[in-house]
Amino acid sequence: MHGQVMRTERLTPGLVRVVLGGPGLAGFSIPDATDAYVNLAFAPPDAPYGGAFDPARVRDEHPRELWPVRRRYTVRRWDPAAGELTLDFVVHGDAGVAGPWAASARPGDVLVLQGPSGGYRPDPAADWHLMLGDESAVPAIAASLEALPSGAVAVVRLVCDGPAHELSLPSPASVDRVWLHRTGADSDADLLPASVHDLAFPAGRVHAFVHGEADEVRALRRHLLADRGLSRSDMSCSPYWRRSMSDEVWREVKREYVAAMEADVA
Ligand SMILES: Cc1cc2nc3c(=O)[nH]c(=O)nc-3n(C[C@H](O)[C@H](O)[C@H](O)COP(=O)(O)OP(=O)(O)OC[C@H]3O[C@@H](n4cnc5c(N)ncnc54)[C@H](O)[C@@H]3O)c2cc1C
Repeated sequence: MHGQVMRTERLTPGLVRVVLGGPGLAGFSIPDATDAYVNLAFAPPDAPYGGAFDPARVRDEHPRELWPVRRRYTVRRWDPAAGELTLDFVVHGDAGVAGPWAASARPGDVLVLQGPSGGYRPDPAADWHLMLGDESAVPAIAASLEALPSGAVAVVRLVCDGPAHELSLPSPASVDRVWLHRTGADSDADLLPASVHDLAFPAGRVHAFVHGEADEVRALRRHLLADRGLSRSDMSCSPYWRRSMSDEVWREVKREYVAAMEADVA
């Protein structure tokens, strides 16, 4: 499956929206989740194939070093009537594949994708919702906030590079939202965990969504389980990416990391 770039929009200095469309998305549909994601496939620069390639066929026909580079991105919106798929990419400098691709995407460019999958939707039976993350979790948190009914209560803490990086994130629910600003110091990794340590929790059962940078997600998970008494079934935790690691390197160690993260609180 593939989409053609219809238009792009720079939502903030660090977030680029890419809207895909065209006949290559025929048959696309999303599961009942607000964190649905697709697997993107990018041809390496020296690949003898391109355009709307079939990743399975490429793997059959080419050596490993020519296989497509894989990345996961959240479905920010799927509009079945228009056949348009919206993805929001963090652009984090020149390193990497997906961020630089999005930063220079132009109408007509082709993006190969597979999926989607996903598993979280705010539980309507919860008394309130806690949503924590960085810019990479903004698409899922934005979709989740839009899906909440009026009368629901959400507490949202997001970390970003400064006021120009904030988004409005509309919701029918009552939302207590705070953006935390990095300063460039090592202590930036503590911003999100520290803000949750200091938080006075509303009463009742919380359903939590904690996605973003791995070490931040791990610290938050430990706190929510060990100190706040959340149950695992009331949390969706996912270390999306890891500081100073490309996604290839991160995927190699992720299984072991997640096992250690799960062992943090037995
Ligand atoms: C299920 C799932 C859904 C995701 N949804 C989204 C989404 O909707 N939008 C989104 O932007 N990301 C999303 N991510 C995260 C994204 O897949 C990773 O950030 C990915 O590593 C980016 O690939 P890249 O090619 O740009 O950089 P890579 O080649 O993987 O990394 C290059 C360098 O950039 C650093 N880096 C990677 N990501 C970031 C970041 N977000 N901020 C700062 N530095 C970074 C790495 O640590 C590395 O040093 C999602 C991840 C998962 C698992």
